[in-house]
Amino acid sequence: MIRILEQSIADKIAAGEVITGPVAVVKELVENAIDAGATAITVEIKAGGKEYIRVTDNGSGIPSGEVELAFQKHATGKIVTEEDLANIGTLGFRGEALGSIATVSDLEMVTRTAEETVGTRLYLKAGEVAEKKAIGCEVGTTVTVMHLFYNTPARLKFLRTDRGEGALVFDFLSKAAIAYPHIRMQVVRDGKVLFHTKGNGDGLQAILAVYGGALKGKLIPVEAENADGSLALRAYIADPMESRPTRKMQIFFVNGRLVHDRTMEEAVAAAYKGRLFAGRYPVVFLFLETTPDKLDVNIHPSKDRIRFYDSETIGSFIAGTLEKGLLTEDAVPELHLGAKVALTKDATSPVTKPPATRPADDAVSAAPQRADEPAKKDSYAVQDNAPSAADSEQVDIKTLLSEMRKKDRAESAHAIAETPVSLDRPFDFRRLTPKGIFFDTYIAAADEDAVYLIDQHAAHERVLYEQIRRAFREKEGESQLRLTPETFDLPPGAEDILPPLEKLGFSLEEFGPSTYLVRAVPLSMAGLDIKAFLLDFAEGYTGGDIASEELRDRIATMACKAAVKGHDRLTEEEVLRLLQDLADCDNPFSCPHGRPTFLRMTKGELERNFKRA
Ligand code: ADP
Ligand code: MG
Repeated sequence: MIRILEQSIADKIAAGEVITGPVAVVKELVENAIDAGATAITVEIKAGGKEYIRVTDNGSGIPSGEVELAFQKHATGKIVTEEDLANIGTLGFRGEALGSIATVSDLEMVTRTAEETVGTRLYLKAGEVAEKKAIGCEVGTTVTVMHLFYNTPARLKFLRTDRGEGALVFDFLSKAAIAYPHIRMQVVRDGKVLFHTKGNGDGLQAILAVYGGALKGKLIPVEAENADGSLALRAYIADPMESRPTRKMQIFFVNGRLVHDRTMEEAVAAAYKGRLFAGRYPVVFLFLETTPDKLDVNIHPSKDRIRFYDSETIGSFIAGTLEKGLLTEDAVPELHLGAKVALTKDATSPVTKPPATRPADDAVSAAPQRADEPAKKDSYAVQDNAPSAADSEQVDIKTLLSEMRKKDRAESAHAIAETPVSLDRPFDFRRLTPKGIFFDTYIAAADEDAVYLIDQHAAHERVLYEQIRRAFREKEGESQLRLTPETFDLPPGAEDILPPLEKLGFSLEEFGPSTYLVRAVPLSMAGLDIKAFLLDFAEGYTGGDIASEELRDRIATMACKAAVKGHDRLTEEEVLRLLQDLADCDNPFSCPHGRPTFLRMTKGELERNFKRA
């Protein structure tokens, strides 16, 4: 039942003008359809939404007697009391979207409830009811918003191009589609289907329907719930090889609501820490469910910002779950033979390097790509998926349906079962049998169903890094005296590194104008190349508390780098030792600088390449 909110409650709702353009209209209409319990929603836009936006749903509909009421300010069927406001379970609750949209457009609503035999058509011009009549229609609601902002030229002027506005709409709808895999969502732009989901509840399938095949086989499904059941996370996370230069492919939902949230961003960063280069971001889709009392959604009128009351608990729940997912077997990067390689990772310029191809002999790479796939884009620019605005104006329903059927068939041909990985099946290096060493650098190994190439330097770095970090914790401040002290020349102007070094456990004695004797070293670094470390430290230390986690990370990274020598040929014993040490690491998958420690090629992959399968 729609009614006008009491003034005292209306006053408590974050106020503001939210209808800023086509995407805002689409968002409000789609949210209304979802709130109305729709299981199928079709969105059509023309000219980026400027000409018209039509949202059709098969939800509850609105009874004839309440249709006008829905357009009044603070008219909502969703909350009544202040208590309801604290336990919002619907996407809408402010009761002003329909009214605001109607004032800046010509709007038609056609709607019918299941109880009625005949539906209602309401037509409003600039917010004023121009016509109301009975009409035959399906149960559900169709809202058509025409000529948005025609009566507010100032706002019209600030709209983007058709293509630009269309891209924003597509971006929103793609997220809505993956948030609601139980809803069959269809998106039509200028007469062409951009995508459609099946509505069968398969979250992974919805993601692939929207973002296409580029992510196929790259997402690790993860699921977890906390002890009292107040937090549940479903996530699809890409292995670190699939990183992006921006956070655009980090998509978060909380209780079905698309949000941008710092707590969640930080949790993702924490989980991937040490697995990615600086400036690279992982691809993750997070679906968090919480009891409504855990968060405040009423802090911004656009409703896409939230505040967790206990962000620490929620952050560590998310980070912990993702970390476990990243340590499962599914997270081991796959290796593809005969691949054209997109050169997206480079230690010196990880962000700016354009994709390039390498010859096939270099195919063993950190960024594998199947040769038969189209060139992989680093981000999913909306324009690439969307047809140009100049495309056919007419909606040819026959072509449209046949296109959809074709797509359906293609999809079911390689349907993917959504089986969350078991979080207690971590990858174990102890299972591997070493088979030899290539180029004095790569250890070949195998288990029952895959072969592996392990970069011995990256692996060694990872092992040392974790050992040093551990020693920092366990042997805090302990030093080892040097029987034959080395000398160390302090670079000019680097005196400020002396106090932090002393805190770390170094004992340095002045020996000449800028020369020091290293009398003692921290126990955690006893076996390392101290001179190399000191030089790195002198160059890399830019101040900061030596006890901080961040600085300790950097110190451990420097220290282990200083320890890894060039092409040492390892003995069989040393190889076994290295695998054993890797197995003991918290994160054996990449070196501290983010390079992978090993690659895997499954038996199936080999069979495909040898055309046995
Ligand atoms: P809110 O969603 O914040 O309640 P709106 O202005 O968006 O406010 O909608 C007002 C009311 O109209 C809703 O509370 C709902 O009762 C009704 N309504 C709007 N759209 C639909 C729809 N597609 N199907 C059924 N009811 C709807
Ligand atoms: Mg609404």
